Formats: sequence, C-alpha cells, structure tokens
Amino acid sequence: MMRIETIAVHAGHKIDPATGAVAAPIQLSSTFERSPDGSYREGYSYSRSDNPNRRALEQGMAAVEGGNDAAAFGSGIAASAAVFQSLRPGDHVIAPGEAYHGTGKLLRDICMPWGLQVTFIDMTDLREVAAAVTKQTKLIWIETPSNPQLKVTDIAAVSEIAHAAGAICVVDNTWSPIVQKPLEHGADLVVHSTTKYIGGHCDVTGGVVVSRSSDELFQRIRLVQGTGGAVPSPFDCWLVLRGLRTLPWRMRAHSENALKVATCLEAHPNVERVDYPGLASHPSHDLAARQMNGCSGMLSFHVKGGREAAIAVAARVRIFIRATSLGGVESLIEHRASITGESAATPQGLLRCSIGLEHADDLIEDLAQALD
Ligand SMILES: *Cc1c(COP(=O)(O)O)cnc(C)c1O
Repeated sequence: MMRIETIAVHAGHKIDPATGAVAAPIQLSSTFERSPDGSYREGYSYSRSDNPNRRALEQGMAAVEGGNDAAAFGSGIAASAAVFQSLRPGDHVIAPGEAYHGTGKLLRDICMPWGLQVTFIDMTDLREVAAAVTKQTKLIWIETPSNPQLKVTDIAAVSEIAHAAGAICVVDNTWSPIVQKPLEHGADLVVHSTTKYIGGHCDVTGGVVVSRSSDELFQRIRLVQGTGGAVPSPFDCWLVLRGLRTLPWRMRAHSENALKVATCLEAHPNVERVDYPGLASHPSHDLAARQMNGCSGMLSFHVKGGREAAIAVAARVRIFIRATSLGGVESLIEHRASITGESAATPQGLLRCSIGLEHADDLIEDLAQALD
C-alpha cells in the first residue's frame, strides 16, 4: 500500500502516449472521433459526458480519499446539489444547522421547494441526530469541523445512526482533505469544494463527489453530472489535479501553522476564545485527535469588545488578506457575521482565519500588532 504523498503525486497520471509529455496535456476538444465501426477509441465521445482531464482528476480524487469512484463538478455547491438531486421528492435529509451557508441556502431555497424534507439540527449532539431520524430519512449530511465555529462531529457515530436507519452518511470534507478520511470512518460519500484546499491557490472553482462504491446511488450522481451538466472545464480539472499533487505536504504545513497561531492567539489578553480543534482547550479535542491527523488550517477567534473591535482588528492586518474563501497559500481573515448576515447565529466578535503557508511567526506578529 503506497503512502498518501506518493498516491497524491501519481494518481490519475500517465505519460502522454502521443508525445511522451510528462505533464498532462489539456484536451480542449469538445468532441471525439468515432472509429469506422462506430466505437470510440478511448471511450470519450463528447466532453460534457467525459473527457481526459476530468477522468484523470476523478481518478486522483478517488485514490486520495480511498474511494472507488468520483464525479467532478464545476463548483463545490454543484457537487452538493448533485448528491441531493440523487434523492427523490418526499425523501428526508438531516443536515447541520451550522453548515457552509451556501449548503443551507441550497437546501432551503431549492431542495425543499422541490420536495425534499430537511431537518436542521446540532449535528455534534448524537441524541439530536437519533431523534431526528424518520421512516423517510435517506441521508445525513455532516460538515466537520463546522463553519465558522469549528464544532466537531463524530463521523463514525453518525454513520452508524444513518446505516441503522437505512440511510447514507455524506461528509462535506472541504475543510480537511488528507487530514480527515471520512470513508475510513464509515461515511458513504465525500463531497469537496475543490476551490479550497485541493485547488489550493485561489485560482479555480470546482467540486467533487467521491464514493465508497460504484453502486446505484453513485450511478445516479453520475447521471446528474452528465445530464444536469454542471461540469468543470478541462483546464479547471487540470488546475485542480495539479493542486492535488502537493496537497499532503500543504495540509501538513497548514495544520502546523494553524496550531502555532491558535496557541499564541489563545494567550493574547484581547482574545476571548479561540476555536481550533487542535487546542487542548477545545471541547472536542479528543474526538478530533481520533478522527483527524492534524487539524487543518481553519480557525476562528473571538475578539474582546464584540463587533466593532473585531472589525477594527481585521482592518489593521498587513499580511493577512481580508477576503472570504479558504485553503490557498495566502492567509485570509474575515468578519464572518458581515458575510452571513444579521439573521445567522455567527457571533459578532468572531474573526475566521484561513491560515496559509507563510512563516507562522510572521502571521503571529501580524495578528499581535493588529490586536494590540
Ligand atoms: C466553499 C465551500 C462550499 C461550496 O463550494 P463552491 O466551490 O464555492 O461552490 C461547500 N462547502 C464548504 C465547507 C465550503 O467551504
């Protein structure tokens, strides 16, 4: 069994048979020639259905997550939508109240009017999960650690509840690729916004669904991919796969940097609390240590003085960039309540950080001068 660094470098890679090129060519062709007998030489006929760059990316993602198959999409939310579209009107979904706000919006504004029943709960409370199950429950959605308060959900325990109910468990693993392998803990599907850590450089939008098996459910997702048509371009697939090559090393560095920054923030007199599962003070530190190997680069901290104080800190940073999104080489900081709107439960003093690949000491000094 090869190690993850080796898998990430080689999965989905082959030397171009036409030229011997080591770096994969980008195949922009939207259509492929039929042989005289009507067949297709490599199985490609039309690029919405399949193309070489997408297939390579899907092979790479399946290998890295330890799945059997994968389907790539034009965005993370398109990947999530494909999972929900594989259900039928009347089916019941259990989803976390604290999830990526676009996922909540997708469920509320599109999936529920279309006929899915959805119950939003605190997914970290296993009694609430068990109590939410109905005869129609078909899918339980996990996002761990959560956005933006870094609450940790027990993937194995929720998967057991799902399977006992005849439902599947899906994990949005966007925040923790490599360091968290949901399929090993019992999940059936993993969803990623590849816009984040996997692309890794804030220069491409994409998504992927990785499946434990190539079963009927996955075939429905494949149908939504080709027939719904929210597919990524060959160039976007090429960029995401290039990001995947360095992902294990980047995740290690993101995790190390974030732990150093979190530890210093926790000791700062103007910081009320730091949400980072790698800290011993985090309420789910032990669970995180069991199901994660490094805690990724996302953390939130609560500035003393609430909204005004938090916005003032974000205004004073020099290295951190004030922007939404995450997972790139550059560190980002965001007053999350301003993004999610007044109605959301995001605390007003919370600043969310995507810790990048700068030197940790420079990031620590930058936050210290902004906080002082
Ligand atoms: C960004 C994000 C998404 C949505 O991905 P897009 O590529 O923006 O469509 C979904 N889930 C999580 C956790 C995310 O951070």
